[in-house]
Amino acid sequence: MSKLDDTLMMLKDLTDAKGIAGNEREPRQVMEKYISPYADKIEYDNLGSLIAEKVGDANGPKIMVAGHLDEVGFMISKIDDRGFLSFQTVGGWWSQVMLAQRVSIVTRKGETITGVIGSKPPHILTPEARKKAADVKDMFIDIGASSKEEAMEWGVLPGDMVVPYFEFSVMNNEKLLLAKAWDNRIGCAIAIDVLKGLKDELHPNIVYGVGNVQEEVGLRGAKTSTVKVKPDIGFAVDVGIAGDTPGITAKESTSKMGAGPQIVLYDASMVSHKGLRNFVVDTAEENSIPYQFETIPGGGTDAGSMHISLNGVPSLSIGIATRYIHSHAGILHRDDYENTVKLIIEVIKKIDSETVNKLIFD
Ligand SMILES: [Zn+2]
Repeated sequence: MSKLDDTLMMLKDLTDAKGIAGNEREPRQVMEKYISPYADKIEYDNLGSLIAEKVGDANGPKIMVAGHLDEVGFMISKIDDRGFLSFQTVGGWWSQVMLAQRVSIVTRKGETITGVIGSKPPHILTPEARKKAADVKDMFIDIGASSKEEAMEWGVLPGDMVVPYFEFSVMNNEKLLLAKAWDNRIGCAIAIDVLKGLKDELHPNIVYGVGNVQEEVGLRGAKTSTVKVKPDIGFAVDVGIAGDTPGITAKESTSKMGAGPQIVLYDASMVSHKGLRNFVVDTAEENSIPYQFETIPGGGTDAGSMHISLNGVPSLSIGIATRYIHSHAGILHRDDYENTVKLIIEVIKKIDSETVNKLIFD
């Protein structure tokens, strides 16, 4: 791999960090390291969501730009007498992408133990079994321990988190980046870069770059962080579906990597706020920033929690079209990430109190 530039180093640090829902310390520390040079103040909610504040106009509206710190993974539920680990999925998994994948178990001491999700070789499967997807409840993690005692001597305990293992890679087309946990460290990166981009800019509002906890188990951290921030406008930035691989029909998704930020019109957690959505689309047009529309009837984002907090917060979810989300490795396009940062910065430069009052009833 050629030398990584500063942005790629940050993306590598963010995606390498290990943190499932309820275990976000490592990604939170990485996000804090990168966002604090551009923030006036760093705070947390009591569940661990990170809130970085940057004041443009102390009397202006509050704009919250939130990614989420947690990634999909597993939690150890039991260690059997032979040293194999039973686990609970944390976040939405499809069994077929799990078998024979390498994982890291993080012990209470913070040490990492390598494991693999066990599978039977085809040689001993019946013809019927070969045709079927394996059931998650029959799966286990093999860390190479010979007994329960040995696994525990290594520091492994029920409750420990298990995260996918994958090496951050820049692909042959250098715009394409392959990594674990794009969902949703890319949202955290966008929040960081938005504050960075506003460093020497005048903006008529207060901006909050937020890393929420526990999104993958039901948009939970966004509830507590939104109450803490009390925003007037909310953006959730998260991965979206890329529909540009073989087998995905236009009906399922027409989104393409590299075609711009996805403006999410509708998902299972929210109808996008029309006034805010129109404002963002107009801003993209004025600045010649590409964008695409997306609907995700089978998923939600933190905007789903943000918009129904407090007295209601006009919110929009903006997506980065990503291939193979909720598996060990996803691919996204660097231009989409950079255009999303650009779009949100242009929006923030324009949003003052008057704009907020107008768009609420648009
Ligand atoms: Zn997700």
